[in-house]
Amino acid sequence: MTAPDVDGDLAIIDVAVIGGGIAGLVAAWELARAGRRPVVLEASPVLGGCVGEHDVAGITLDSGAESFAAARPAVLDLARDLGLEDRIVAPAALGSWAWVDGRAVPLPTAGLLGVPVNALDPGVRRALGPWASARAALDRLLPAGYGAGAAGESLSFGALVRARMGDRVVSTLVEPVVGGVHSADPDDLDVDVVAPGLRAALAETGSLGAAVARLRAPLGPAGAAVRGLEGGVHLLIDTLRERLRELGVPILTGSAISDLKLVPADWSGAPEANPWRLTTRTPPAAVARGAAAVQHLRATAVVIAVPAPEAAALLISALGAPVEALLEAPDTTDVVLTTLILDEPLLDAAPRGTGILVARRSTDVTAKALTHATAKWPWLAAAAGPGRHVLRLSYGRGGDERPLPEAVARDPDALRRLAIADAATLLGVALDPASVTGFARVAWSSALPRPGTGHAKRVAALRTEVAAHPGLAVCGAWIAGNGLAAVVADARRTAASL
Ligand SMILES: Cc1cc2nc3c(=O)[nH]c(=O)nc-3n(C[C@H](O)[C@H](O)[C@H](O)COP(=O)(O)OP(=O)(O)OC[C@H]3O[C@@H](n4cnc5c(N)ncnc54)[C@H](O)[C@@H]3O)c2cc1C
Repeated sequence: MTAPDVDGDLAIIDVAVIGGGIAGLVAAWELARAGRRPVVLEASPVLGGCVGEHDVAGITLDSGAESFAAARPAVLDLARDLGLEDRIVAPAALGSWAWVDGRAVPLPTAGLLGVPVNALDPGVRRALGPWASARAALDRLLPAGYGAGAAGESLSFGALVRARMGDRVVSTLVEPVVGGVHSADPDDLDVDVVAPGLRAALAETGSLGAAVARLRAPLGPAGAAVRGLEGGVHLLIDTLRERLRELGVPILTGSAISDLKLVPADWSGAPEANPWRLTTRTPPAAVARGAAAVQHLRATAVVIAVPAPEAAALLISALGAPVEALLEAPDTTDVVLTTLILDEPLLDAAPRGTGILVARRSTDVTAKALTHATAKWPWLAAAAGPGRHVLRLSYGRGGDERPLPEAVARDPDALRRLAIADAATLLGVALDPASVTGFARVAWSSALPRPGTGHAKRVAALRTEVAAHPGLAVCGAWIAGNGLAAVVADARRTAASL
């Protein structure tokens, strides 16, 4: 690894990439491949951000993201470019379920965030009941513009689906899925951020069902909407780290950037060669270990690839009032992910397919989603061995003050008991606590941005302001939209813009 040029406590570098999550690493890789000399500055001791890994009872598992959208090509292309093509896998075709009003309802196989392609499909009729299913089918008869908002007007995902297909589609099918993916209510999310292209497809095809079918077309009629990697999605991070090393890109972990300033041009108006001044805040523990003599950096260009609160602070510090007025960073949600490893042959039948998403109004279950990881990913079942199962339960929804009840948050044993009880209810199987051979808890803070209505417009205005400062770029989930497909595509575009 080549160290940056250091002069006293000042380092002069070409491009500072702030944040070593997938957005920052992809941007750094693209920049290095295009001949720039990026340096990755990551606050924590490990790379990857929300794409993490951990070891539970001897099995290496994803600790955050575990799949990616297949309808958009970004992550598939990245995996191929990184040489991981042979590892791309589809989940088992077992379908998934929603937990609504104390019962498990199968979700439509061909849908988008719970919105069905065909409201009269027998599975959808069973889930909704005949009246609600007939109401949803009205979507095909309504004028294309009905419920779609005026051109340029911001609209929530929930409002669009409710207008076209009725309340019950939202409360039974959409709300659990959107809650599972975005930890937020459909009414609080900007349709153009969570389902880009949906409004345009509706205008062209004339109905929401047909628009969903068009967006899903690359997957085939009932193809799975996601893909994973054999070995786990965190292989993207391991491989990116390797590729960056091969290209000699310095990766400085334990380097939180606490301040960013734009140095004004001198009296002659001559442009500064390295106009961006960064200050690192080295954690005391790292200083005690003798780390990071460098406290200040000057860079020709900067890519900000950190979560919403940190990005807002850096942008305001660098650009001041003009950007502050535009910057309404999205609310974020804290999430707690629990993993259970069980020796329980009763789960071999995969009673809820690949998993189950819980409607917000449920009072009998605290978790918002359960993924039966060994049922979903055959490679993982093989790695775990016969009769051994991996369940992931996530806690925390947008609008909740905290992801877990106070008493459970304080006591890991209480969380373990809660996760086992929730899993038993959701899977409809009596689970013996003695069958649990592994348990892990990972807390993600400010991890999931909730792009409220109007977010797409605000982001466009912010991007215009940022573009007015050559050498500055912003990427990451809070600006691109949540999820690896959106984040990776945006990071690649961002790097190209520099
Ligand atoms: C539990 C969980 C499960 C998920 N599951 C999926 C899934 O299955 N599929 C999917 O597509 N998406 C999933 N997501 C969402 C997806 O993981 C994220 O959208 C994506 O990883 C965000 O990447 P990012 O690089 O923008 O941000 P992050 O991953 O948050 O990375 C930002 C990085 O910046 C660093 N940083 C912060 N402040 C500073 C600073 N001041 N200086 C330097 N560095 C700093 C952080 O330490 C972090 O490493 C999941 C998210 C979570 C939390």
